[in-house]
Amino acid sequence: MGRIRVLSDNVANKIAAGEVVERPASVVKELLENSIDAGATEIRVEIENAGRRLIRIADNGCGMLRDDALLAFERHATSKLSDVKDLLSIATLGFRGEALPSIASVSRLVLETRAEEEQTGTRVEIAGGKMLNVEEIGQSRGTTITVRDLFFNVPARKKFLRSEQTELAHVASLVTHYSLAHPDKAFDLRDGARELLSVEPVADLRDRVFQVFGSGILEDLIRLEPTQRLFEVDPDEPAMPFALHGFVSRPQVQKNNRNSIYFFVNGRLIRDKLLLHALSAAYYNLMPGQSFPFALLFLDCDPQAVDVNVHPSKTEVRFRQQSFVHDFVRDAVREQLMESRPAPSFRASPVAQPAAQLPYSEFSQAMENVPVSAIEQAPPTIARAPVFTLQPQPGPAPHLDFYDASAAAPAQEPTGTLRLRVPDTHGSFPAGALSEGPSSLAGLGDLRPLGQLHESFILAAGRSGLWIIDQHVAHERILFEKVLVARSAGRVEVQQLLMPLILQLSPSQQIEYARIADELAANGFETEPFGNRTIAIKAAPAAIGPAELERVIYEILEIAEVEARRVSLDDLRRAIAASIACRAAIKINTHLDQSKMEYLLRELSKCEFPMACPHGRPVALEYSMKEILKAFHRI
Ligand code: ADP
Ligand code: MG
Repeated sequence: MGRIRVLSDNVANKIAAGEVVERPASVVKELLENSIDAGATEIRVEIENAGRRLIRIADNGCGMLRDDALLAFERHATSKLSDVKDLLSIATLGFRGEALPSIASVSRLVLETRAEEEQTGTRVEIAGGKMLNVEEIGQSRGTTITVRDLFFNVPARKKFLRSEQTELAHVASLVTHYSLAHPDKAFDLRDGARELLSVEPVADLRDRVFQVFGSGILEDLIRLEPTQRLFEVDPDEPAMPFALHGFVSRPQVQKNNRNSIYFFVNGRLIRDKLLLHALSAAYYNLMPGQSFPFALLFLDCDPQAVDVNVHPSKTEVRFRQQSFVHDFVRDAVREQLMESRPAPSFRASPVAQPAAQLPYSEFSQAMENVPVSAIEQAPPTIARAPVFTLQPQPGPAPHLDFYDASAAAPAQEPTGTLRLRVPDTHGSFPAGALSEGPSSLAGLGDLRPLGQLHESFILAAGRSGLWIIDQHVAHERILFEKVLVARSAGRVEVQQLLMPLILQLSPSQQIEYARIADELAANGFETEPFGNRTIAIKAAPAAIGPAELERVIYEILEIAEVEARRVSLDDLRRAIAASIACRAAIKINTHLDQSKMEYLLRELSKCEFPMACPHGRPVALEYSMKEILKAFHRI
């Protein structure tokens, strides 16, 4: 008895069907998902001409019985689902039984497969949907599918394919992401003679990240230890666990788009607005609004908690417990960010990129231009211009560097640096001066202020090196946290204005004002409607000078307008606090005496999160002893 059956019309009609074969990468995606569903531990992908001429995927999974090998090419034939009920809890990547027939109808396809239970394998040959030949073959357990001449019989679709580099980038990005989701499996990707990815099974996701991106990236990432939270469905039913693990970047890693954010829900790579929002909420006030982190997040839950049957290419999901999932992800990421509190160092500057980071930065640059959304959703016409340069840069490396740290370009010296070894005749530095690893900002209180640079930056000496602290940003962070604490304790210091300040509001400001008047009051702004679209402000938080008050109010109303769409009171509170802090903080170009500098550093060290201002700019940079010694050629 075979494993595959044809779904009844009733089930088939409930499936979010759509054209699954849009480009070579979509073929690779479907075949890769099948191999993973088949329990393969080794998946080899071979393409030629970026998949136009050939795509071959070989796996060592469970294989197919002879009868199944034929049935698999019927529409809605699948071994993964049988009735409508199953649609509510899909644990496999595939479930529609559509991919193989769709691919076979637009290419010349050969399937070679053998299941454990059978002595001989089966070879099925199909072209343009017509079965040409079926025969017995010798074959080891597993499945190999070869797809040649994609779209040979649909010239219109072939025309829509982008340049070879773009198509190749999509395939490479896809295989890379699946390899990240399955560190325990071996993946191989080659285009012609060129090896693009080759990773052996590893025990830990960290090792896979290293295999794929090289060592440079690990310094920039924070590991999210597996965290779990239970959702209480109702008191009589068992609670539903949600688990999250992965990596997120330190806040100083700032990307200008979302393309370095990868979410996997139960092992499926998806694009999801809810999760994206949860992630940006986690970085809220740690990173400027228009910047995005790198994230590799795996959310696992009961298949019943998430509907994957909402989008033809299965790249979107719908959570049944939306706000629970949102808050869980936001809080879990935020907690880890808070815990690590690392100091940004000069390494963050774009001038001095250590060589080890090269593979990752090139990789991510290339990836940045290939939105995952474009791979999986957008019609080919929307895809961006080709930017993924697969040609090796001038130099000896004969293959792609992006994936292989050891193949990185020769160590890069900042231009103009002379490599002279100066004999060390001046004794050595105390042990500890060269301590490795990112310094923590927790030691800020022990720094000795040396003076100001341009009356804007505090220079300070510490055990681990020389620090530069942006005085405005530092004060902003201090005030921000104080305002938040005072707000939640209901102890805001308020000053009465001698004359009420009258402000004119636009219609939309008027609406926002009505919505947040209570929150304004709780933050120390005593306001009152004053005629048509006018308000009177009678008192304000003590920290804000009268000259700044008008700006603060308008700024808060503007933020409220944006926040209204996000409905989070918590985010609104933080935004208000950020606005107050920014207006009240000491400005740059302001002289500070020794005691003021000491005060700032001390208060900063007490902050929960001293590394960035509420808008995400860095507070302090460290020029480590090691870097100083290196620069002076002492090590
Ligand atoms: P779906 O994955 O939605 O079930 P497909 O058309 O992708 O539909 O595949 C049809 C069926 O063929 C699968 O349900 C599975 O039983 C079988 N199959 C496809 N690829 C493989 C493979 N690599 N190894 C074993 N079985 C496979
Ligand atoms: Mg499938």
